Amino acid sequence: MPIATVNPATGETLKTFEPLGPETIESRLAAAHEAFRQYRTTGFGERALLLKKAALLLEKDQEDIARTMTTEMGKPVTAARAEAAKCVKAMRWYADHAEELLADEPVADAEAKDSGAARAHVHYRPLGVVLAVMPWNFPLWQVVRFAAPALMAGNTGLLKHASNVPQTALYLGDLFHRAGYPEGCFQTLLIGAGAVEGVLRDPRVAAATLTGSEPAGRSVASVAGDEVKKTVLELGGSDPFVVMPSADVDKAARTAVTARVQNNGQSCIAAKRFIVHEDVYDAFTERFTARMEGLTVGDPLDESTEVGPLASEQGRGDLEELVDDAVRLGAQALCGGGRPADHPHGWFYLPTVLTGITPEMRIHREETFGPVATVYRVADLDEAVQVANDSPFGLSSNVWTRDESEVARFVRDLEAGGVFVNGMTASHPAMPFGGVKRSGYGRELSGHGIKEFCNTTTVWRG
Ligand code: NAP
Repeated sequence: MPIATVNPATGETLKTFEPLGPETIESRLAAAHEAFRQYRTTGFGERALLLKKAALLLEKDQEDIARTMTTEMGKPVTAARAEAAKCVKAMRWYADHAEELLADEPVADAEAKDSGAARAHVHYRPLGVVLAVMPWNFPLWQVVRFAAPALMAGNTGLLKHASNVPQTALYLGDLFHRAGYPEGCFQTLLIGAGAVEGVLRDPRVAAATLTGSEPAGRSVASVAGDEVKKTVLELGGSDPFVVMPSADVDKAARTAVTARVQNNGQSCIAAKRFIVHEDVYDAFTERFTARMEGLTVGDPLDESTEVGPLASEQGRGDLEELVDDAVRLGAQALCGGGRPADHPHGWFYLPTVLTGITPEMRIHREETFGPVATVYRVADLDEAVQVANDSPFGLSSNVWTRDESEVARFVRDLEAGGVFVNGMTASHPAMPFGGVKRSGYGRELSGHGIKEFCNTTTVWRG
């Protein structure tokens, strides 16, 4: 993929970039490694001041960077502003909490003595240079949710961002530089996917985190495995959204629309499969479809737009193939099912609701990365759990019920890294984020996330 800004609302190539050559990559690797040797010795106070400065700069830049993101990947500008604000919040959260999250932990006296120690502690020390391979869908947030904890823990970072968001990628490198971070602490590498292996195999790189598709995750994890380097993988999702008879059906239907079409439907934690009890199936589906059909599709820079274009022509093509395959095999489109006639340019796709899904359809097992919902009718809770778990993915899940015994069953049985009850999945700095099955492994955010790139060290004193 060329490294370029191509406006998804028009298809126009606005700016292209040359990938970094071997000499520049080498000098950035050397700088990252050198920076780590010093930066690891800084205290939490110093690191927090730097991160808060970066947060302040980002806050001031909110409007400009929001428009850049929208121009590069097509999210509604209102959502882009919210993304920038969320990054500011996460930076401040880690600046305020990292010291407490990574405080030395004493081993209980009796256990320490049992080991022969006078006392023992667990220390959390940084790992080193971490390579972050990131996707375009939340081009600021995905990076910040790695960078804020990693930098607060004392690591340094190298960012290989998706090739279609180069200006956002460059902005991020510049942001940390302007905030006053020592040279080499956080750098953007404008490189293609093919150059990742060489960087990851370099002995100066200690670990990697990848947010993206399953093939990219598999590729990075296998190289890292070969090099015995730690990885965190945040991959695809096909989250279930279960509606049971005791739910507030109207609220569930309203939330379902937001949960499905956020970020033009291109969110790993978007609800994608709507699993509805037969007692409320008609009421839910009718309301959900009416709202999906009524969404405003259009120019993402227009303040009133609710659904913009997909980020790439390829992405729209992949989505079309999934829908066409399902319809060919008997699915019914209650709304949408194609491109909007009034937006012939750019990579738009209409919000779509499909029913009559069967296991042989690709859409039953694959991720729909766009504004397409599949709705399933189920007879009871057991069937709801079975359908919800009948997916290779296990990122998060949403359940709507007022029955506490049902909540307990869902929390016990859903194969996912999150269970959101009577609400939609959203990330928050204080809560761990990540999945199971083909959605990856490891966690971001919270104390769990910051410890992923730490050397958990036993300090035993005789
Ligand atoms: P992608 O094609 O996998 O790209 C993600 C990143 O990986 C990009 O920087 C890409 O670089 C790079 N990459 C691709 N193939 C690679 C390879 N073989 N080796 C090394 N790097 C490689 O994914 P995407 O289309 O940008 O994002 C969509 C996917 O990300 C969806 O599946 C979505 O669910 C998932 N996602 C998951 C989470 C989560 O937290 N679990 C969050 C957001 C998105 P190039 O751009 O240069 O190809």
